Amino acid sequence: MSKGAQGRYHRQELLPDVGVEGQRRLGASHALILGCGALGCGVADQLTRAGVGRITLIDRDVVELTNLQRQVLFDEQDVAEGLPKAEAARRRLNEINAQVRVSAHVADFDASNAERLCGFTTDAGPDVLLDGTDNFAARLLLNDLAIKHAVPYLYAGVVGCRGMQMTVFPGGRPCLRCLVERPPAPGTLPTCDTAGVLGAVVAIVAGVQAAEALKLLLGREDLASRSLLEFDIWRNQRRRIEMSSAGDGCACCGRRQFDYLDGRLGETSARLCGRDAVQLAGMGAEGPVDLEALAARLRPHGEATVNRFLLRATLSCEAGDDGGEVGLTVFRDGRTIVRGTTRTERARSLCAKYLGG
Ligand SMILES: [Zn+2]
Repeated sequence: MSKGAQGRYHRQELLPDVGVEGQRRLGASHALILGCGALGCGVADQLTRAGVGRITLIDRDVVELTNLQRQVLFDEQDVAEGLPKAEAARRRLNEINAQVRVSAHVADFDASNAERLCGFTTDAGPDVLLDGTDNFAARLLLNDLAIKHAVPYLYAGVVGCRGMQMTVFPGGRPCLRCLVERPPAPGTLPTCDTAGVLGAVVAIVAGVQAAEALKLLLGREDLASRSLLEFDIWRNQRRRIEMSSAGDGCACCGRRQFDYLDGRLGETSARLCGRDAVQLAGMGAEGPVDLEALAARLRPHGEATVNRFLLRATLSCEAGDDGGEVGLTVFRDGRTIVRGTTRTERARSLCAKYLGG
């Protein structure tokens, strides 16, 4: 590049709160993104283009055709190759900006590996934790990590045409657990796989999340949003909910008790069960499962029947190691058996997709 030519980040450096010094600061920072679905792709794309020096990606899933409608880092070739999302995302990000060091972990994130995968066991831990997950067990685990290691956690979620974003600040309250004590019972919340999701709402929430992350990485916590942002892009509704500073009674940010990270709550056990099935124990969810409501939600995707004790469903899903069909048996206490796979991470992934929680 000739002397005086405009560099890659010129337009961003023109922003008064960035400048050349801010850009250097971004280049020395590290963002962790848990989940490479729609939100994870959107925020990883933004932060890579913005020149965040180091990005760590964690995801357990494989790219599927139905992802392409909203997961902006993937293409038809990734589907044809059956690439894991974390690896497909890493390759794409590397093509966008080779200056950024992107590490990809194809892994099922849980209490046993969370601190290691995030890099907290080294001296190069992340400066922000970004939420691209689809379930509250993983979010409450991220929340524990954030409070324990005093790193900001940017919660975000999308479903249907609605989106939400809130930042948990180190030492600040509330944290996510102040608002959500336990993951909701399986099947009580709609998921993107049962209720659908609009790509446009993902772009907005990922944009908000990326902007908040950049402010924090630039050391401008004073500019960061202190409220829960919620909107419905289809109904043109938006609201900001000011968060009170309650939290004295919170196990996590109040008493520094990290139940999800210590494995006392959350995704506990997954074990092989029979020749071709995985059983997931109740995930520490609150209350019994409303099986009738869950069946109604699953019926557009296959067959679902309920008796006094359990729900049985056969759902058509994409080709892959399930051969196009997956069976779920859900008990009232939340215990779930996934038929048609022997891989625990695949079983957890399917539960998160169809049951949420
Ligand atoms: Zn709290």
